Amino acid sequence: MAKIFCVANQKGGVGKTTTTVNLAAGLAKVGQRVLVVDLDPQGNATMGSGIDKRAMAMSVYDVLLESASILEAKQHSERAGYDVLGANRELAGAEVELVELERRERRLKQAIKAVHADYDFVLIDCPPSLSMLTLNGLCSAHGVVVPMQCEYFALEGLSDLVNTIKQVHANLNPDLQIIGLLRVMFDPRITLQQQVSEQLKSHFGDKVFDTVIPRNVRLAEAPSYGLPGVVFDPSSRGAQAFVEFAKEMVQRVTRM
Ligand code: ADP
Ligand code: MG
Repeated sequence: MAKIFCVANQKGGVGKTTTTVNLAAGLAKVGQRVLVVDLDPQGNATMGSGIDKRAMAMSVYDVLLESASILEAKQHSERAGYDVLGANRELAGAEVELVELERRERRLKQAIKAVHADYDFVLIDCPPSLSMLTLNGLCSAHGVVVPMQCEYFALEGLSDLVNTIKQVHANLNPDLQIIGLLRVMFDPRITLQQQVSEQLKSHFGDKVFDTVIPRNVRLAEAPSYGLPGVVFDPSSRGAQAFVEFAKEMVQRVTRM
């Protein structure tokens, strides 16, 4: 049975998509069967996994509107080493269309049930909002991975997300928990980042992952080649950190 995780943070540009595709590639590298679900109409996780978002016959949009199953709509990325349920601009319309429909926040959960046995991990890349799309992700998941930069306002931004997760936990999905906070784009030479990192650890204890993802230009270059950094340049520091993170996730999951 797959363990299902949302990669979420309502801020844009904090490293959600980079975390999703590189964790997926890292997990695939250590022998795990992985499905990435792209819930962001920007389709960055789709493109970053080597799937052309403009050329998809079916996408997560069709799955949410129940005109296709995940089995029908997913694609395999040979180079990345995992399956992708892609997204493109069409998904932006789903937000409005779903409002009218019943079980609107449970559509993805229902669809994943049918492929549960086919994967060890399902990773859901959320859009930068606390929208109906994100809600579908949170309702489907066992846990949330929160990538964050160690900046001055990091803790403040976290409280909205923590409150949303608490509400979903209480009302819609009793399984849901924060699996952990992942420090990303970390630069140890910056004193402020070290300070915020320490603050995070004292506030959240072992909810902070041991692995730290460094700022690394190879991770930023990889998407333009349609590859996760882990595949694009396996020897880079960023790639190595994500493979370590994948191993840490496998360990955490065995303790869940
Ligand atoms: P989000 O999905 O939260 O909007 P992204 O994963 O797209 O964020 O990351 C935002 C930008 O930062 C992208 O250009 C990405 O390539 C870059 N980036 C993310 N993580 C790193 C990193 N560890 N080192 C360098 N650049 C990074
Ligand atoms: Mg993104």
